[in-house]
Amino acid sequence: MKEMIIRKAAARIWRARLTQPFRTAKGQHDLLENVLFSIELSNGVRGYGEAAVATHITGETVPGTLRNLRIAAGQLRGKPLGDIRKLAESFKEKFPGNPCARAAVEMALLDAVTRGKKIPLWRFFGTKPRTLRSDMTVVLGDVADAVAMTREILRRGIRSFKVKIGRNFGEDLKRVAAVAQIAKKYPLYLDANQGFTAVQTLKFLKELALLKIRPALIEQPVPKEDLEGLKRVTRESTVPVCADESASSIEDVRLLIREKAADVINIKFMKTGILESWEIAKVARKHRVKLMIGTMMETALATTAAAHFAAGVGGFDFIDLDAPLFMDQKVTRGFHVSAGGVYNLRKVRAGIGVTPLLP
Ligand SMILES: [Mg+2]
Repeated sequence: MKEMIIRKAAARIWRARLTQPFRTAKGQHDLLENVLFSIELSNGVRGYGEAAVATHITGETVPGTLRNLRIAAGQLRGKPLGDIRKLAESFKEKFPGNPCARAAVEMALLDAVTRGKKIPLWRFFGTKPRTLRSDMTVVLGDVADAVAMTREILRRGIRSFKVKIGRNFGEDLKRVAAVAQIAKKYPLYLDANQGFTAVQTLKFLKELALLKIRPALIEQPVPKEDLEGLKRVTRESTVPVCADESASSIEDVRLLIREKAADVINIKFMKTGILESWEIAKVARKHRVKLMIGTMMETALATTAAAHFAAGVGGFDFIDLDAPLFMDQKVTRGFHVSAGGVYNLRKVRAGIGVTPLLP
């Protein structure tokens, strides 16, 4: 096949309304404001990537990400497609503090490559696509909010729940108890987004045990710098501990494994790009550390790309791909996650199978 040239490349802001503010212990999103990156090859095939900017978590900004992606677009225009790994590596060096920009570039390149080959993106990562069933998040709020959201999630046919905690010990306890009461038989994941100390977390889990509630997982209970705290919760609790913010690079993941500081790693493209995420998955599985696939506040474009990855790579026990369910308007066309939160990618013919609908 003739070497493909990247004929066009561009970056622009992508905004969408949310059904409700997405509130966590670290901050909140009232609106989705991401950066869309697109390329077009010499044969007319296009590829799309999305950078989800989570300023309150990673410190990246929308203007900074847009600026970097415009620079990237300028550098890619007129270049042969060549080796994606090399391109990805060079962007890692160029934009070290801006992994979501790297994720967007890799996503657009992989989308275009797999579309050009007429294979679904999951095929790039594996030989068979696992069907994924996402949880849905009960965001921070009061007990009545938690009850209403839990009912709504059940009504949607979703059968696992992620409850955001970490802001108010007493109220969080009541919220989790209320969710558990309604969603009795289903797995409950807790995510403190760095909001507790190790002592508080262990006490929280003990209080839940007294209520006969056993979460299936507790995610990022302590601040990301508190490795000792994370280790302590992992060692002293029987509830599996998932590292999210503490696992923001492959170096972080190697350290967590070496120190036995977590039972599960939450992989997100926006923290580590796509190819580094793949390395992380391999390293974690080699050491029998379990995997979660997660996202920031992303449209169905980036979320479905993450679903392709988890479906193709396999071995993901925890699926947290609910972000598109928080969009208040249709912002993409193509594949859509089912009402029950199921990603069945056998329906996708080529690439990610999702394209942006722009105003
Ligand atoms: Mg998390």
